[in-house]
Amino acid sequence: MNIFETDKAYVANTYARFPVELVSGKGSLVYDADGKEYIDLGTGIAVNTFGVADEAWINAVTSQLSSLQHASNLYYTSPCARLAEQLCMRTGMKKVFFCNSGAEANECAIKAARKYATERKGEDAYTILTLRNSFHGRTLTTLAATGQDAFHQLFTPLTPGFVHAPANDLAAVREIADSMPLAAIMFEAVQGEGGVNPLNADFVKGLVALAKEKDILLIADEVQCGNGRTGMLYGYMNFDMVPDIVTTAKGLGGGLPIGATMLGEKVENVFAPGDNGSTFGGNPAVCAGALNVLSRLDEDMLAGVRMRSEMIFDRLSSAPGVKSVSGLGLMIGIETEKDAGEVIAACRAAGVLVIKAKNKVRLLPPLNIPTDLLSRAIDVIKAACAD
Ligand SMILES: *Cc1c(COP(=O)(O)O)cnc(C)c1O
Repeated sequence: MNIFETDKAYVANTYARFPVELVSGKGSLVYDADGKEYIDLGTGIAVNTFGVADEAWINAVTSQLSSLQHASNLYYTSPCARLAEQLCMRTGMKKVFFCNSGAEANECAIKAARKYATERKGEDAYTILTLRNSFHGRTLTTLAATGQDAFHQLFTPLTPGFVHAPANDLAAVREIADSMPLAAIMFEAVQGEGGVNPLNADFVKGLVALAKEKDILLIADEVQCGNGRTGMLYGYMNFDMVPDIVTTAKGLGGGLPIGATMLGEKVENVFAPGDNGSTFGGNPAVCAGALNVLSRLDEDMLAGVRMRSEMIFDRLSSAPGVKSVSGLGLMIGIETEKDAGEVIAACRAAGVLVIKAKNKVRLLPPLNIPTDLLSRAIDVIKAACAD
C-alpha cells in the first residue's frame, strides 16, 4: 500500500485530506513525496509561525531536548516559568496555565470563568455566551461553546451552559445578558474557522461596557488569531480593550503542541492546587521553542506582518474573480466567484498551498515569508480565481 492507502486503512476517518504527502520543507517552502515544491500559505493551520525547519527555533528546541525532554508538573523547569513570565510581560496578564491544544486552553478558561462566577455571583451564573460562527474546539465542552450547529449534531448531549448570539450584534448580546446571569463572553477577535471575519470595533467596545456593567468576564480565544498573526501580538490588541482571560495555542509553539490560558487580574487567583492539570502541559522542549517564537514577535516582525497584509489586500481586493477579501494581518479570507475548493485545487496544482474557511479561500502564511515568494503566490492565487 502507498501512504494514501495506508492512512485511509488505519487512520480514523475524521479528515478529508488534500491528496498530498508532505515530507519536508525550508522556510516558506514545503516539498511532497514526489519532490514537488509548494509555497506554503497554510502553515499547518497557523502553527508554523516562521515556516518549516526554522534554525533558531530548532536550536532552542533541540538544545532543551538534549538536556531534559520532559519533567511533569511535579517539578519546576526553567522554560515553563520563563515562558509564563514573558507571556505576562507582553500582555499584562498575571498567570498562565499550560496545556497542549487550543481546546484544552479554552476548557481551562471555561473552568476559570465558572469558578469565578460561582464564587462571586452564585451557582446559577455559569452560562457563557459565545458568538455564532465561532470555533472553540472539538471536546464536548468546547463544541458546546462553538456557535455552529453543524458541529453539534450527533454528539448531544453537549455540556450545558452555553448560549450564542450573532457576531457584531450588540443588541442580541445585551438581550441575553439581561435575561440571565452570565459568567463570561468568549470571542475570537477574528473568527478563523467561521470565515476569517474580524469583529467590528464598536461591537467590541459595547462588549467591554456590558461586561463591566454586569461583572461578566471577557475571554479572548486567541488560538488562531494570536501570536502575531493579525499584525499585533494578540488579536484583541487591534481593539482598545484588555480581556480577563486570553487563550492561545497554534502559532505559539511554532510547530509543537502547546496551549496556554492567561489569567488576568480578576481571575489570577481563581485556581487552587488540584483545580486543573496536565501531564505534558508546560513541557520544557515545547516551552523552549515557544520562548524563541515569542522573543521574535517584536515590533519589527509585527510591522512586517502588516506590510505583507497590505500587499495581499492591495493585489487581491479588486482582482478578477475575487468578490471580497477579509481578515487582519496574515489571517486572510478570500471570497471567490468560483467554488473555493476549485481555487484551492488550482493553486495546489500550480505550487501554492492554501486552505479553506467556510466558503472562502484562507491564507495563513509564515509571518516572515519573503516578499518575493509571497508575490509569486499572489500571482498564482489571482490566476486561479480569474480563469
Ligand atoms: C484551532 C482552534 C481551536 C482548537 O484548537 P486545537 O488545538 O485544535 O484544540 C480553538 N479555537 C480557535 C479559535 C481555533 O482556531
